[in-house]
Amino acid sequence: MLHQQDKVFKNLYGLLDWRLEGARKRGIWDNTKELLSKGRDWIIDEIKKSDLRGRGGAGFSTGMKWSFMPKDLQGKSAYLVVNADESEPGTCKDREILRFDPHLLVEGCLIAAFAIGAQTGYIYVRGEFYHEAQRLQQAIDEAYAAGLIGKNACSSGFDFNLYVHRGAGAYICGEETALLESLEGKKGMPRLKPPFPAAMGLYGAPTTINNVETVAVTPTILRRGAAWWSGLGRPKNTGTKIFSISGHVNKPCNVEEQMGIPLRELIERYAGGVRGGWDNLLAVIPGGSSVPMIPKSICDTVLMDFDSLREVKSGLGTAAVIVMDKSTDLIAAIARLSHFYMHESCGQCTPCREGTGWMWRVMERLTIGNADIREIDMLLDVSRQVEGHTICALGDAAAWPIQGLIRHFRPEIEQRIANHRIKHPAVAVN
Ligand code: SF4
Repeated sequence: MLHQQDKVFKNLYGLLDWRLEGARKRGIWDNTKELLSKGRDWIIDEIKKSDLRGRGGAGFSTGMKWSFMPKDLQGKSAYLVVNADESEPGTCKDREILRFDPHLLVEGCLIAAFAIGAQTGYIYVRGEFYHEAQRLQQAIDEAYAAGLIGKNACSSGFDFNLYVHRGAGAYICGEETALLESLEGKKGMPRLKPPFPAAMGLYGAPTTINNVETVAVTPTILRRGAAWWSGLGRPKNTGTKIFSISGHVNKPCNVEEQMGIPLRELIERYAGGVRGGWDNLLAVIPGGSSVPMIPKSICDTVLMDFDSLREVKSGLGTAAVIVMDKSTDLIAAIARLSHFYMHESCGQCTPCREGTGWMWRVMERLTIGNADIREIDMLLDVSRQVEGHTICALGDAAAWPIQGLIRHFRPEIEQRIANHRIKHPAVAVN
């Protein structure tokens, strides 16, 4: 169990003052100047040593990402972009940071920008987070007024400007290159990579894009040391993480815990347990709607971190735990997600544009059982043709929930088809 003193997000529930004065009492903006005075290389090295992995879903090494930025910009601009477009169904952690501890993020932006050599930062906030964006702006204004950012930020000699940009509500703008397009005032459509943003990002300049939680934890890591952070969790899966637990639990909540906490402990200790008890559990989507679900037999023992969940063919994603008890119609639930991904596809690549719609239509028929048994394999096959064959990861996100359903609950789908055959022998597809 994570000790109170090891929590980074001490105001996760908004019970304390979010303003600068309150933030300072929690140690935020403490010795920031000293941290900066240690230099870019020291900061990047420390973040690398901490083994911090991005909290936005992909889990890439943050220190490594920062080190990709060119050391000599030859007078050109570089940018830090923070992805606050939290749109993954089930995920609601960055929202709480923006609302209740915005100074953690603002200080993190200064440090990250200094480390990558960017004098300008943008925080791209999901359009629906209207109040959160306002509060974040207030925190930025406070930081400017106190000389913490802006010209000669924290008296460090480094100039840094930070802007809030509100999106317009498209899920795909959470994809980093679509976010850049949107920030540039264009349609939010993912770019082909390479070139990667570190070489050619915002306005064609070197850019690092990080998730809110990733940036917000960096000042604390630097203050307390890489060894402290890497001592939490498991090797290569270090530190703390905010988990969003929703669905059929008694007390849905956000909670900060160590990486690698057992899923069962997470649900029972913090979310009041599964509705009707642990034995009433059917399945869990452990990392936001795009990762494959896992059945109860795996939930009994699995650990909540990147590598443990990958081993069971799922993923930590955004660590949004969606709990489904035995009352859930899993086929209908996944069909609903299929509709979501079809709706959010930007339409640029054929496998995604056509495949998401095709998969959704089959899922709709499977929900009522109006299908042939062979269509299950056909659906699986199409999902594999979409997966990995698209410009961005939305194609994978549409394929994986379906693959998870078929992998673990194929007999239920077959039963649904058989039941439909009995009730409607004349209209059955054959
Ligand atoms: Fe657009 Fe889908 Fe292709 Fe991503 S995978 S670029 S969302 S069509």
